[in-house]
Amino acid sequence: MLYQETFFVYRSILKCNFAETFIIMYLLLSFLFTLAFPFSSFAEKPDLVQPMLIPMELSSNFAELRPNHYHSGVDFKTMQAIGQTIYSVDDGYVSRISISRNGYGNCLYINHPKSGLTSVYAHLDSFESFIDSVIKRKQYADESFEVDFCLTPNQLPVSKGQRVAKSGNSGSSGGPHLHFELRELVSEHALNPLTIYDVKDDVRPRMHKLTVNPIKGKGISAGVSDSKSYQLETISNGVYRIKNGASIKAWGFIGLGLKANDYMTGTSNVYGVYILKVDVDDVTTFNYQNDEISFDSTRYINSFIDYEKWYKNDELIMQTYVQPNAYMSNIKQLVGDGCLDINEERDYNVKMTVCDYSGNKSVLSFVIKGQKQLIPIVDTAWGNNYFPWDTLNSFKTDDISFYIPAGSLYSDIYFNYIYNKDSLAYSDTHVLHYPYVPMQKYADLKIRLKNDILSDKQKYYIAYKNKRGEWEFMGNTYDDGFIKCETRFFGEYKIMCDTIAPTISLLSKGKIISFRVKDDTSGVGKWSGYVDGKWAVFSMDNKTNTISYVFDKNRVEKGKSHKIELHVFDECNNEAVYKTNVWW
Ligand SMILES: [Zn+2]
Repeated sequence: MLYQETFFVYRSILKCNFAETFIIMYLLLSFLFTLAFPFSSFAEKPDLVQPMLIPMELSSNFAELRPNHYHSGVDFKTMQAIGQTIYSVDDGYVSRISISRNGYGNCLYINHPKSGLTSVYAHLDSFESFIDSVIKRKQYADESFEVDFCLTPNQLPVSKGQRVAKSGNSGSSGGPHLHFELRELVSEHALNPLTIYDVKDDVRPRMHKLTVNPIKGKGISAGVSDSKSYQLETISNGVYRIKNGASIKAWGFIGLGLKANDYMTGTSNVYGVYILKVDVDDVTTFNYQNDEISFDSTRYINSFIDYEKWYKNDELIMQTYVQPNAYMSNIKQLVGDGCLDINEERDYNVKMTVCDYSGNKSVLSFVIKGQKQLIPIVDTAWGNNYFPWDTLNSFKTDDISFYIPAGSLYSDIYFNYIYNKDSLAYSDTHVLHYPYVPMQKYADLKIRLKNDILSDKQKYYIAYKNKRGEWEFMGNTYDDGFIKCETRFFGEYKIMCDTIAPTISLLSKGKIISFRVKDDTSGVGKWSGYVDGKWAVFSMDNKTNTISYVFDKNRVEKGKSHKIELHVFDECNNEAVYKTNVWW
């Protein structure tokens, strides 16, 4: 699900070019007549209404940590139900609509030229009819449930406080809520909606764990060069120390990590922190503050979190030192790369501070004792291919080729490769480095097909063993005895084949007809539904594996029996067909 969300985030970058041209002209004009607007700092705070008329409570806040992206908005609770009325927060016009079976689900974008903002409403259940008719027209024209299109300013103008939609649980949503974003209209950078809306928070962030990470070959701590975790305890309100007041002995370069979360008044949810600051002997060495998110660089979060700990233990730990390839605009202050250089036999006084957006804060203080000791050299025996992060790296054998573009790695690695021979399978199993090492860009992967017995090569696909241990479809392009795909993951790959069509079962029949669709191998790909032989909007929800059709009185005659036909394909193009008659 996380992969899908990320895919969506990337797709959503800078989409509506013609709208932007209009906006740029608008901005130039407003510059001539008044002063240039300092948008991100809100020198004049835009006066927006709430997107819903219920008390504002968050289930997620801005810039919360997620693997592969920062949370680019806030999640407003909707009283555990779908169907809350959504209002446009300001005058403007609907600038973009996207409908998807995953990611943001049903999503509405409204541009507000006067305030220089775009408001985004995701996981919606339905739209007001003046918007819905435009969506339907587009879906029928494209013969596709999934659409993503831009609109000109005069197509769907809206006024402040106008009803536009109902909240829902569509796309990759874990329960009914409104995912709400405010973006700077021109740059499309996401801003913190709490700069506009006051949500009560008088609870301090809490600190859970400190990690001390000696830099390989350059540092040592507690006698080892491995990462070590320390439990924390509070000694008074918002004041933390290492459990039992222990100190840490170290030498050389040391990176620090912290697991901390924010909490809010009257909720049991866990949120992300707004500021994380490190002071060593009263000098700030690292200062991180989340005011805006650029979709172009959100994936660099993989170098900020301890990705290995996330992969292995599902823990999100913030690292207060940076890797060579990390573009992070939310780091406001940094000495060197943020690592401590313990090079004197003395006490180093470290203070880590976390704050939430309302200014509640917690502080952890501890001592690192500089103690001269031998730093173990890096053992490179476990990997013999040195891959610098800033060059193109490749790995090739007779059975596999792997090209990693420059800037894909966050730091240099000793690439490790092993393979498990399987003479009966469609390929050997290839283990490309470690799945807990993240990648920023797509690499090209080609695996040799063995035991090629099928005439239709589309049925072969590259499968990746994901974090849950399931083999996931990655691509099925055939190329002269090889299968190709693009991937941003290190780990285990092999070729599998899918010759079995998906299954379709009828769930309900009436004004709404719904089906459960399943494909255990490559997964459900495209689908299309027909009513009385004509293409119709059959919507799909990925998380429930359901496809539904709602009879549309504008397109289908009422009071008779209708021929319903659903075609579902898997990723390897195996087709299943379901036909039935429904009286409506
Ligand atoms: Zn959200």
